[in-house]
Amino acid sequence: MAKILITGGAGFIGAHLCQKLLTQGNEIICLDNFFTGNKNNVAELLSNPNFKLVEHDVEESYNFEVDQIYNLACPAAPIWYQKDPVKTVRTNIMGAINALELAKKIGCRVLQASTSEVYGDPLVHPQNEKYWGNVNPIGRRACYDEGKRCAETLFFDYYREYGIDIKVVRIFNTYGPKMAVEDGRVISSFIVQALQNKDLLVFGEGKQTRSPCFVADTVDGLVAMMASENFVGPVNIGKDDEYTIKELAEKIIQLTDSKSKIVFKPLPEDDPIRRRPDLNLAKEKLNWSPQISLEEGLLKTTEYFKKVL
Ligand code: NAD
Ligand code: UDP
Repeated sequence: MAKILITGGAGFIGAHLCQKLLTQGNEIICLDNFFTGNKNNVAELLSNPNFKLVEHDVEESYNFEVDQIYNLACPAAPIWYQKDPVKTVRTNIMGAINALELAKKIGCRVLQASTSEVYGDPLVHPQNEKYWGNVNPIGRRACYDEGKRCAETLFFDYYREYGIDIKVVRIFNTYGPKMAVEDGRVISSFIVQALQNKDLLVFGEGKQTRSPCFVADTVDGLVAMMASENFVGPVNIGKDDEYTIKELAEKIIQLTDSKSKIVFKPLPEDDPIRRRPDLNLAKEKLNWSPQISLEEGLLKTTEYFKKVL
């Protein structure tokens, strides 16, 4: 049994991670400022004596005696990380420094939830971990993309300079239950629109691609990375089946038996055209690969939204 700190633990991925690690018998401290996360996401864990919820902003330092830190705190949906971009940069940079400083002080392992956005609008396809990316440093996505890139830099500088026990995971588009209804990311938005028989708003011509991964697979990947030895990453975690956004919209309309129509809206600035992870490194180093099909994941997510809408 380990003592584990999860920043951003009341968010979408964080809440699933809290649940999994608690079920495995660990003691969890969940730290969150509830910007995009919600107490409801961890409501069923609150009565467990091994679970502690702490309201705190990772821009400010914190102090706990733990064996592991998962650093997930950061809004992840474009409409949310662009609401206060300066705050997003600070969350990424100060959040990384505060996690690393605690790891340095108490000598624990620390994992950074990085992102496929470090590859920007990629010129290499599929993206492997050796690719340095194609990011616009002054665009509207930069607060997130460059914030996450700088957080990776900090992790590797603390590793080289102070020998901190780091792990860096680049998460690709993940979806599932517990995404906020107002989250704005593609799959949750399409499912909510389809269940309400409203138009599905596809940006651009819907020809851009993503490779959606169900949250249980992503969480298994994060836990496998934390448990790994002699490997710091970065490592891609995601699913390597690629779909256009229009295909995803059509699939969701069909799965939900919805009367919704597809309506096209302008493509947001710097929206990446293609994205698919190369998962060879994760398979080799972590013996991990995603198990849940898109159909199964979409059905589970739809069941969730039927309950909360
Ligand atoms: P989310 O927005 O649901 O969760 C983020 C959590 O961090 C929320 O609970 C939020 O309240 C909290 N938070 C934000 N700023 C904070 C701050 N300053 N101090 C304390 N808490 C703060 O997003 P998610 O999808 O669960 O993403 C979790 C992590 O995984 C993020 O770091 C994100 O960048 C990364 N990630 C997610 C995806 C994905 O597809 N879901 C892809 C790549 C990377
Ligand atoms: N998208 C869309 N309609 C929506 C939300 C997103 O067409 O309501 C598109 C968006 O333009 C992008 C893709 O879906 O091309 C994935 O967007 P999301 O915000 O989920 O993630 P990210 O762009 O960060 O990969």
